[in-house]
Amino acid sequence: MAENFSNFMGGSPLNRLSWLRTSQTFLNAAIVAHATRWILFNNGQPLIATHAVSKKRTLALLPTDDVSPLLGTEPYFGQGQYAGEAYPSGASVLEAARLHGPRIVFLGLKEPNPFTAALPSSDFIDPQTAIANLQGTLFFSVDIAGIQECLVNEVIQASTSTNSHISLAFVEPRSAMTSLDIVTAAIFAEARSMVDWNGRNKFCPACGSPTYSIWAGWKLSCTSLLPWADDTGKEPCPSSRGMQNFSHPRTDPVVIMVVIDESDEKVLLGRNKKFPLKYYSALAGFVEPGESYEDAVRREMWEEAGIRVWNIRYHSGQPWPFPANLMLGFYATADPSAPIRLDLDNELEDARWYTRQEVLSVLTDTSHSDSTKIGEPLFKMPPPTAIAGVLIKQWAEGDARLGYANKGNL
Ligand SMILES: [Zn+2]
Repeated sequence: MAENFSNFMGGSPLNRLSWLRTSQTFLNAAIVAHATRWILFNNGQPLIATHAVSKKRTLALLPTDDVSPLLGTEPYFGQGQYAGEAYPSGASVLEAARLHGPRIVFLGLKEPNPFTAALPSSDFIDPQTAIANLQGTLFFSVDIAGIQECLVNEVIQASTSTNSHISLAFVEPRSAMTSLDIVTAAIFAEARSMVDWNGRNKFCPACGSPTYSIWAGWKLSCTSLLPWADDTGKEPCPSSRGMQNFSHPRTDPVVIMVVIDESDEKVLLGRNKKFPLKYYSALAGFVEPGESYEDAVRREMWEEAGIRVWNIRYHSGQPWPFPANLMLGFYATADPSAPIRLDLDNELEDARWYTRQEVLSVLTDTSHSDSTKIGEPLFKMPPPTAIAGVLIKQWAEGDARLGYANKGNL
């Protein structure tokens, strides 16, 4: 059985244990477990560790002892009306609730062997034993943007005091991600989308009341639903009734397509007005309500380039946490003799057909070090950390078949 292709930031190694997100008993025990590690963000910028000698950058993974001054008072989950007060489990609007302190997201468990994932029951009699039976590292994430800067600095200084070879700093996320290994990048993708969503959604879209976090950061609820809320004179919040998908994290699908001709020798690439000089890539766009992925591929190609496409084939997906996109990579076919139109939605500055040979020459050129370069490349392409780079490269090298096996990513 062939493996599916895993793009950079996909193929997460975490067992998310999503059925335990409602269990404050589990979560409170998980936070203080010895092996637990934290990914910190400051306004969406990850905390990055840089090695003093090698300058190698990795995601900083801090233990709970280091991070605890930032988390507020216990209990961390299952909080009541006042800080330091526990609310007994049972009320659905308060399942693993956090009403005080920064919002915390439980990301999952990284196990030594991902092929024998743990399936701990949600029926806990003794959470400490349940935690002790888990093998590997439990991951949490938090954005410290609302916390006093001096307190954050103290935590970072204390964390580096035991390791003088490492310096810690919050770093612009797009530049930070390219230095991550594929396993850490996948954990980063989940963490960044989740802390971003928690940070941006402070008010209930149904009634405007403040929100609070439940389900270990995976659901938001409206404060008008709290047992102690004073809703005198207010209409009941619509989110109290029926299914409310706005209280769950977003994932915004984006189709990205590499269009080739019937002879399989030419590829259509475009230049967005915002791209750096000479940069060409696959065309892309958000899936709109009421569309299938294939509909979105057809519409985007029509709107951006005036091109009709057919034979649409899915290749692979890539989480893109800026802030919550899921890139869906496709190949499609079009007629290179048909006129290209850029005056419809005016997103592109240029779109043109390149031959396989031209693309291969750019790939060869960019794979050399600067000292061996022979002049400037014909154009520039996205790197293999972006799905567009993968789609173009695989087509050019004749490996654009579906179900391409990529073992060794995990
Ligand atoms: Zn509400």
